[in-house]
Amino acid sequence: ISMHVIPDCTGLSAFSGNRQPSTNSSSYFPEIIDNLKQVFKLSAFRKNQLEAITAALEGKDVFVLMPTGGGKSLCFQLPAICTTGKTKGVTVVVSPLVALMKDQVDSLTKKKIDALLSTSENTGDSDDWQRLVRNDAKPKLWYITPEKLCASSSVEKMLSILYSQGNLARFVIDEAHCISTWGQDFREAYTLLGTLRENYSTVPIMALTATANKRTMKDIVAQLKLKNEATFIQSFNRPNLTYSVQLKKTPVPDIIAFIESKHKGKTGVIYCLSRKSCETVANKLCEKGIKASHFHAGMSPREKEQTAQDWQNNKTLVIVATIAFGMGIDKADVRFVIHHDMPKSLSGYYQETGRAGRDGKPADCLTFYSGRDLSKLIDQIRKTEDTSPDSKERQIEGVREVYQFCSNISECRRVQILQHFDEKFDRAKCNRGCDNCVAVADSRKLVREDVTKHAQGALNFVRHIRDRGDQITQIQLLQALRGSSTANIKARFEQAPQYGSLSKLPMELVELMFNRLMFLEMLSNVQVVNKTGFHIDYLEIGPQAQSLLDGRENVVLDWYPKPDKEPKQRKKLLGGGDSMSAPPRSRKGKKKVVIEDDPIEFSDDMYD
Ligand code: ADP
Ligand code: MG
Ligand code: ZN
Repeated sequence: ISMHVIPDCTGLSAFSGNRQPSTNSSSYFPEIIDNLKQVFKLSAFRKNQLEAITAALEGKDVFVLMPTGGGKSLCFQLPAICTTGKTKGVTVVVSPLVALMKDQVDSLTKKKIDALLSTSENTGDSDDWQRLVRNDAKPKLWYITPEKLCASSSVEKMLSILYSQGNLARFVIDEAHCISTWGQDFREAYTLLGTLRENYSTVPIMALTATANKRTMKDIVAQLKLKNEATFIQSFNRPNLTYSVQLKKTPVPDIIAFIESKHKGKTGVIYCLSRKSCETVANKLCEKGIKASHFHAGMSPREKEQTAQDWQNNKTLVIVATIAFGMGIDKADVRFVIHHDMPKSLSGYYQETGRAGRDGKPADCLTFYSGRDLSKLIDQIRKTEDTSPDSKERQIEGVREVYQFCSNISECRRVQILQHFDEKFDRAKCNRGCDNCVAVADSRKLVREDVTKHAQGALNFVRHIRDRGDQITQIQLLQALRGSSTANIKARFEQAPQYGSLSKLPMELVELMFNRLMFLEMLSNVQVVNKTGFHIDYLEIGPQAQSLLDGRENVVLDWYPKPDKEPKQRKKLLGGGDSMSAPPRSRKGKKKVVIEDDPIEFSDDMYD
């Protein structure tokens, strides 16, 4: 039994680069190191690469868990070109994303490594047949989609011929978490990979992923039927990333202030949920002289390619994108990743922020969240067709987990994130690496405030308005509860008993409270399309409101009261100006909450 579990709970060496193992006694080492330098033109291995490559050459099943950008590809590409391993022949690589496979095949071809790509679209079976079966010199790597691998009879034939000749070196299952229904990237065809072990019992299997908690890992190992696998796990901590999260108020001005104060002229990515906000945010940045472009699944492949290329070549600095921009992005010097909207899962958040600072130098991750984002995401999940109720519930649970993460301002962000991957992180090692640890280091006082009474008042107010058949937006509610002197707000709502009842509560608390009420499903949004086709969000009493009104539940908020002379640290970390704490402007009550139809982009072209 060979179980190399190499936990790296300090995470310090996860991205440290030049690390050579002290033991290189393996007989494969000379060829490995030669290929590393001559073919891949790299000078040293990253953590766990050499170990995984050696285990592969020893003919073992291998499980590699490595953060995005950690260098998983090398773990199977390098052994594929070695001639001294226990097994010889073609390395079959299964990956979910055609674009990504194309990139890899191109880059291998540039290194003069013979690599072949088969997808469901390409009908070049006869060509594949020539290269894999007829020719004596076989491709070293055969990239193939899971659908094609498991459903094409000609592929099956080629595989069994190779197998009988002893020409199958190993199966590589990249992004192996796609096999698990626990993950959000579940891919039906991946489940068929479970038959590889039975059909090709002597061929070793290597599974690689960046997204796995214990449950998913077990699932992968069980479904692929790995045996005595060599397991390489490393810490998911990214020591060079700084995490901070803010309640969303005026995101665009805050983003601009953040970039100008901390990352002027630097490369970054801003994630938005919808295509439309990508475009508007990118335009607003451009107006301020920040070179930005949008990127989403609604663009033509040509446009997307051009945009990605301009960014790669530093012609544009900031990409404002949906999650369509992601997998396969490999730019080392990304100095910041901003989430303009709340991410839809913690794994997604980790992956997306993980695109920052791949060069190991400091980088910032800033996230905006709100109760409204939460309810938008949940609505979208509920509306999604051909998703099972179970999977919807899981996704909703995932979104709520993100909200909890965002609104938790006491626990270290790293502790929270890594806990999601079942990894324990010692807060002392965060070292001012997140907003919450900076607050502690600066001796800011976290205050826990029970706002139950105020929350009850707010709910009663909404109920009162609804009972009389009227509607109210969140901004109107805020104005009314704060006792606005604006004429039309007064005229419409002053009769309600709670008018002005929150006038003494600090604005920050009022905002936190509204957002929390949405999270608790005590307040909810209903979108109404008005005569001119605009979508307006009105507030509604949520399904959980009664428990608060009955006094069965409390609303308790953590916050940092702002003293008059506040140390500038937190602001500096977040990079924003005063606009962050400014209440939403109520320009003479004329500010309408008019939200145009702005559908969220989910994972439409995650996979080709
Ligand atoms: P993953 O699949 O784990 O997300 P990749 O295999 O795509 O990561 O590698 C990410 C980047 O790291 C690539 O640009 C790759 O060339 C680079 N890389 C991988 N291994 C090394 C290494 N040992 N030294 C330097 N760069 C490396
Ligand atoms: Mg990869
Ligand atoms: Zn921390």
